[in-house]
Amino acid sequence: MSKLPTISPSSSSSSYDFEMKVVFDEIQKISKEKNCGEIVIGLQFPEGLKKHALDIASQIEREADASVYISADPCFGACDLDMRLLEKSDLFFHFGHAELKQENIGNKVRFIEARSKVDVSDAVKAAIPLLPEQTIGLVTTVQHVHQLENARRILEAAGKTVIIGDGDKRIAYPGQILGCNFSAALFGSEKDGALFESEKCGALLYIGSGQFHPIGAALSSKKRVVCADPFTSEVFELNDRKFLMQRSAVIGNAADAEIFCILVSTKNGQYRRVLAESIKSKAESCGKQAFILYMDLVTPDQMLSFKADAFVNTACPRLAIDDSGRYPAPVLTPQEFEIVLGERKWEDLVLDEILEGGQDE
Ligand code: SF4
Repeated sequence: MSKLPTISPSSSSSSYDFEMKVVFDEIQKISKEKNCGEIVIGLQFPEGLKKHALDIASQIEREADASVYISADPCFGACDLDMRLLEKSDLFFHFGHAELKQENIGNKVRFIEARSKVDVSDAVKAAIPLLPEQTIGLVTTVQHVHQLENARRILEAAGKTVIIGDGDKRIAYPGQILGCNFSAALFGSEKDGALFESEKCGALLYIGSGQFHPIGAALSSKKRVVCADPFTSEVFELNDRKFLMQRSAVIGNAADAEIFCILVSTKNGQYRRVLAESIKSKAESCGKQAFILYMDLVTPDQMLSFKADAFVNTACPRLAIDDSGRYPAPVLTPQEFEIVLGERKWEDLVLDEILEGGQDE
């Protein structure tokens, strides 16, 4: 057992629940199963939670007979497990995201969601005056998903009807949305009649921070979206005009492109080679040149050597949007590429999604 100096317990005083009891129970189980001394624990955190990594590693090293390795590579989602560290670990804890359905990750991964301890009640109450519609759909990220029933009760007490969509099997909880999956904003499938409910839904209430998720939910569902940020209690109606103007400019800049590079990430939950192949075929059938670029992490700097007129991104859908402007040429989503080719109308623009079964195995 390593004897590291005690680091102040920032994880326990954080506004996120790192479920250390679950972590220790899992370590104990594996230690018993292995029954032969020290075990190797891998830890992985998204960028916003990395500041808690040393504290958590220190706690584990103090309490357990374990060597702990922390993945320092960038991480943005459960789609992005550090496979090399996973291979070397007896047990691997991925913090900050819910489990994402994916093949080839074996049974050593435990997803510790790091749910927010911040109460959403005030933000939801503050949003009610902005929601004159009778039926409200609720969506959120995994950090607040355990508080959706609380939000439902508050809205129902204000006389609203509330719908929480199941979403597809790529997401772990009803009402949860990802930056690449807004299926929970669509309220189920035609089979169970839930699409009828969707039509009745007048607006969505998004509980969380940031604009990317609510923009995706708005484009996908075609509903008005009100955002309620539980960290600041700020509430506002989403306005996606600036976003759409940016995307319109990117599409315009790619209109005359002759050479396309199509980006494929080898990350487990982002890998879409089949989609990339179909984009390449479409480009070639329109008389364009197209090449597929394979990589793990997609960054603007890596693209500098490739003299493409435009890129088409099949990796994490957020990449084309969040880093727009930092790439040496326009980066299109697959749907925007269809607009450039004249196969899709601008009015039918949606964000790119990786839905259930959408990634290659
Ligand atoms: S593909 Fe992107 S949006 Fe989807 S889970 Fe991964 S990091 Fe998040």
